[in-house]
Amino acid sequence: MAILITGGAGYIGSVTTELLRARGERVVVLDNLSRGHRDAVAPEVPFYQGDAGNRELIEHVVHEHDVKACIHFAAFAYVGESVSSPALYYENNVEQGIRLLGALVQANVRHIVFSSTCATYGEPQRIPIDEQHPQQPTNPYGWSKLFIERIMSDYDCGYGLKFVALRYFNAAGATPERGERHDPETHLIPLVLKAAHGEIDRVAVFGNDYPTKDGTCVRDYIHVTDLAQAHALSLDYLRAGNSSTAINLGNGQGYSVLEVVNAAREVTGREIAIEMQQRRAGDPSHLVADAAKAGAVLGWKPQHPELADIISSAWKWHTKRSSAQA
Ligand code: UDP
Repeated sequence: MAILITGGAGYIGSVTTELLRARGERVVVLDNLSRGHRDAVAPEVPFYQGDAGNRELIEHVVHEHDVKACIHFAAFAYVGESVSSPALYYENNVEQGIRLLGALVQANVRHIVFSSTCATYGEPQRIPIDEQHPQQPTNPYGWSKLFIERIMSDYDCGYGLKFVALRYFNAAGATPERGERHDPETHLIPLVLKAAHGEIDRVAVFGNDYPTKDGTCVRDYIHVTDLAQAHALSLDYLRAGNSSTAINLGNGQGYSVLEVVNAAREVTGREIAIEMQQRRAGDPSHLVADAAKAGAVLGWKPQHPELADIISSAWKWHTKRSSAQA
């Protein structure tokens, strides 16, 4: 009996794959490697290169490995790119996602843990954001994830599919072996660390006229291993026969872009130059989680809630990788 992990060669997917293996679970990874890295998946893990929406391949993998559950990470996840290239997001995240769900239902796999996002909420009407908050995304990335949440609800009614939609706030940090490496990199913490390392000259700060404490956007950063743990707990929840649900994953602490830069200056002891730029299209001003439900329903408790620890783990990984490449 195995768990199919789509996008298991990506950042959060690869960390979750390792955590599940350490727990003694059997896992199978499916990733088309458009944004993931083959070397992020241990060689002994069964690996298939292909699209999450390849129905024949899914059917084959499910039968070959006796798949009983799926964690669906495979998706594009850049807010800015989703605004300029929405078709990428609807074709990859929604179209492929629908095909995956169809293939899973057809193959009688009824337990799904889905990578959703706080971007499904849009500009918040209240902070912190709980799961009852209206969902009105401000960018195609958020919509693409919300559509899949909606479709899964209908597949629950129609086909008995049971799911946990995990609405991540801002994933960050690293394990000693696995961290964030996107190409091109657009996420704040990896860019700040590249600047600390001298790989880029400065970090652009996208907007300082938001209605926040210092005018820059506020986000809730959550350690990737805490996110991974929540996926394992979500599988337990589904296996216990519980009903479908959506759950926020965050620390409940908001940090502005400038606070992140300052924290990184302290952690690294390096200069990090910044440059004020225009707002980035699609960015809500504040996204901070009320994650009480994750504690109550899953028994989840973040182990690394401090921003300095999150940045420090990413810095160690970044430094190790840079010296290995040098
Ligand atoms: N951000 C920034 N400069 C960058 C990258 C990001 O000012 O080079 C800001 C971005 O506008 C957002 C926050 O940092 O307010 C976090 O962005 P990121 O892309 O890391 O995650 P997102 O919140 O979009 O998922």
